[in-house]
Amino acid sequence: MTPLLSIASVSKEFSVGRRKVLALSEVSFDVAQGECLAIVGESGSGKSTIANLILGLYAPSGGSLSFKGEALPAKRSLRHRRAIQLVQQNPLSSLNPRRSIGASLRLALDVHAIGERSERNRRVGELLEEVGLPAGFASRSPAALSGGQRQRVAIARALACQSELVVLDEPTSALDVLVQARVLHLLEALRRKRGLTYIFITHDLSVVRNIADRVAVFEKGRLMEIAGTQAIFANPQHPYTRRLIGAVPVVGRDELALRDRILEQENGNA
Ligand code: ADP
Ligand code: MG
Repeated sequence: MTPLLSIASVSKEFSVGRRKVLALSEVSFDVAQGECLAIVGESGSGKSTIANLILGLYAPSGGSLSFKGEALPAKRSLRHRRAIQLVQQNPLSSLNPRRSIGASLRLALDVHAIGERSERNRRVGELLEEVGLPAGFASRSPAALSGGQRQRVAIARALACQSELVVLDEPTSALDVLVQARVLHLLEALRRKRGLTYIFITHDLSVVRNIADRVAVFEKGRLMEIAGTQAIFANPQHPYTRRLIGAVPVVGRDELALRDRILEQENGNA
């Protein structure tokens, strides 16, 4: 079956003054319709760069991207902008503080001409309810919401235009553990209900275990390893992946044993 998203030999170079920074180096992977692919790696490994390339916010320096077998040009059509949406770590940076939440959601519906005009305000209320917020929140400003509620609004906006692929860049990293668990639960329920595909970027491997079908591990702009979540945790192939897993706070005897084995190996090799 044609993958939903295909990334072929994609590189991205930035110029910083006279210096060149290679943020991504010949990265290739596919994302299947309906899956949740986690992208993990330390800070600076290129995770947000890949998100920006998928969103069309950056053009690749080399390689190509395709969506449903169709080349994704650097300048995106409205259709592709609608199909591929972003949820960022800090929703305050993407929600206009002067606009009510309802107005922000309504704008997304207007831009993409979703539904009849006269229906759109009702649709805003339905979207809020779909992400577990009261429809009455439409009149509130983003500043009047908690971090978790704001992230729910950002998710509602990403879903407003009937997107197919949602890139989530550290969507729960700014939230405390309990709120994080609830938002992850919501994301999982939405994925099933709407048949969405997620690219879930995080540095938090305990989140990965809860939500991802597969994991792609990045280090310094390179894709080191990509495999099923179970396989990555049970049998990490790359030393970098082993180090990452060794650094996760673990629970349960098997996981502790795995961590100890990894640490032993690391120490043995040092
Ligand atoms: P991550 O999200 O994994 O922390 P990034 O994708 O943000 O990593 O960054 C990868 C590398 O690219 C880093 O070395 C970063 O400094 C560099 N980089 C990212 N964006 C830019 C930019 N707009 N201009 C210059 N360098 C950048
Ligand atoms: Mg980042």
